[in-house]
Amino acid sequence: MRTEEFKSPDMSAEKFTEFARKALDFASEYLNNIEDYPVLPDIQPGDIKKLLPAELPERGEDFSAILEDTKKLIAPGMTHWNHPGFMAYFNSTSSRPGIIGELLSAVFNNNAMVWKSGPASAELEEVTLEWFRKLVRIDSLFRGFIYDTASVSVMHAFSAARENLGLGIREHGIFGRKLPRLKIYASDQAHSSIDKAALLMGTGLDGIEKIPVDKNFAMRPEVLEEKLSSDINSGIKPLCIVATIGTTGSTAIDPVPEIAAIAKKYNVWLHIDAAHAGVTSMLPEKKNLFNGHELADSIVLNPHKWMFVPIDLSVLFIKNPDILKRAFSLVPEYLKTSADETATNYMDYGIQLGRRFRSLKFWYVMRYFGREGLTNIIMGHLETAEYFLSKLKAESRIEILAPLNFSTICFRYIGENKLDEAELDRINESLLDKINQDGRIFLSHTKLNGKFTIRIVFSGLTQTKHHADIAFDVIQSAINNH
Ligand SMILES: *Cc1c(COP(=O)(O)O)cnc(C)c1O
Repeated sequence: MRTEEFKSPDMSAEKFTEFARKALDFASEYLNNIEDYPVLPDIQPGDIKKLLPAELPERGEDFSAILEDTKKLIAPGMTHWNHPGFMAYFNSTSSRPGIIGELLSAVFNNNAMVWKSGPASAELEEVTLEWFRKLVRIDSLFRGFIYDTASVSVMHAFSAARENLGLGIREHGIFGRKLPRLKIYASDQAHSSIDKAALLMGTGLDGIEKIPVDKNFAMRPEVLEEKLSSDINSGIKPLCIVATIGTTGSTAIDPVPEIAAIAKKYNVWLHIDAAHAGVTSMLPEKKNLFNGHELADSIVLNPHKWMFVPIDLSVLFIKNPDILKRAFSLVPEYLKTSADETATNYMDYGIQLGRRFRSLKFWYVMRYFGREGLTNIIMGHLETAEYFLSKLKAESRIEILAPLNFSTICFRYIGENKLDEAELDRINESLLDKINQDGRIFLSHTKLNGKFTIRIVFSGLTQTKHHADIAFDVIQSAINNH
């Protein structure tokens, strides 16, 4: 019989309250004063490692020391994604309600592999994704699933597409037997996550047909149809077609209605990648963004990008979830439950068994801001981008390199005298370095038609025209001093 009182090895309840409060005080202060930090830290690879002990402590440490090191060593070594001067890549800012959701999901520590192991988590996921589906005007033919990133979402979409071909790959694999060659069709502007999914699908990188684009960087559907029909005639089996709404380089929009008609004609799975720009369809001005999507089979959007949900949270909408289930469901005896017939066991719809409670933070964000709040914030970003574009257009030394479709602007310096392309690439590269060394903003680049292109994106939660003015100022002084 156990007589001694049980003592939990965890931090005591009193200490938890004390240090959680201290951590929250730090979090508030950090978020309130984030503009005091340079967006990009002035450090070199290895600098942070040098500051940290190489060995774990033998005996547990006091939590105040851990918190202190977080402030002193970790925070200054961060690239500050929540900084309004973060205008690189595609922004992903977290909102305070989303942060609270992230905290509480760790408190519940729910693992909704089967409904029984996380009933509220499983059902909240269904409810929030129905809210989201309606918010972004996606047809009720589709059902949503949460994954960590768009890269993993698209891998699941392709897996379902492959299962749908009925080649017996789930049972017999792809090696050592006679199978047709499979191919994926996407524009030459499509995201590299498509290529990565191809690595997993077994098509190889040669199995991706990169369709050329028009002057606006949108896929040319007539070329898609040519390639598709000639490939089919030579015995190739199309695995899927990817249409992008908002490409990573310039936010180009592939013509979904035309592409969908081709997919239907040749009976090929259509996947729509709207990871960044898809959320804008909540705006009345963008209500036609998903025109033609009813003919698609899967669609991905990332609330962790432009909907202020802390990374990570990506949503895959799929028309026929049973195919996804057919691709992945494996139910060992120890995971069978009596609710299997009536409830969703999320482990059946993907590669992972363990599954964290991501929908909580998403629910908080949608409830806290509401449709109106979210719409107004995103509308503000589109207006800020228009405003910034008009400033750039008035600067004769700048050339605009792509149409403004959402809130990303692609431009480069061209100077007063005519310079050759190689020279322009070199100057713009060093200009970008100079811009980023200023500390107030962080921009990234791409290549469009082979030209070094600077990109600026307005999609951060706290960005306003004021930050567009700062960005313009930084760019102008970099030009004047280059
Ligand atoms: C960001 C992005 C991705 C990849 O998103 P992850 O969630 O980081 O995997 C894919 N496609 C497009 C169009 C994107 O903008």
